[in-house]
Amino acid sequence: MLTVTDGIVVSLDYTLRLDDGEIIDASEQEPLEFLQGYNQIIPGLERALNGMKVGESKEVIVAATDAYGEEDEDAYQLVERNIFPLDMELEEGMQLRMRDAQSGEAVDVVIAEVNESNVLLDFNHPLAGEELHFQVKVVDLRPATPEELAHGHAHGAHDHE
Ligand code: ZN
Repeated sequence: MLTVTDGIVVSLDYTLRLDDGEIIDASEQEPLEFLQGYNQIIPGLERALNGMKVGESKEVIVAATDAYGEEDEDAYQLVERNIFPLDMELEEGMQLRMRDAQSGEAVDVVIAEVNESNVLLDFNHPLAGEELHFQVKVVDLRPATPEELAHGHAHGAHDHE
């Protein structure tokens, strides 16, 4: 009988809650499908799933360090208000997509503070510092195809080239 181990494609039903019980994510119409052992999901959850069988459920609590990391005080950056268009309304808590000056990659940042001349940007992951509570159920397991192993991810119904 298959169990969750590296190189197995796992179909997982899950509900993700924060420490205060708020549900922030869940598998909906379809289970989440991923390749175990290839960093497709956060490390703390991946570890906890090892050895599970189809039909098995579990509650998994993942510390921030094994999820999205602790909040990093150095991940704040003060920028001038005038790098944004004048007519753009900026408020605290607003999420923005910016392009990293060095890598050119898109990053999501949150406005931590704003005043007339400056904006304090928070580059931490929105879930940094959060302990995550997963309720999971293994719906299906199958060996990965050679192509999936080569790509390092599962190929589901919505395949790619
Ligand atoms: Zn692929």
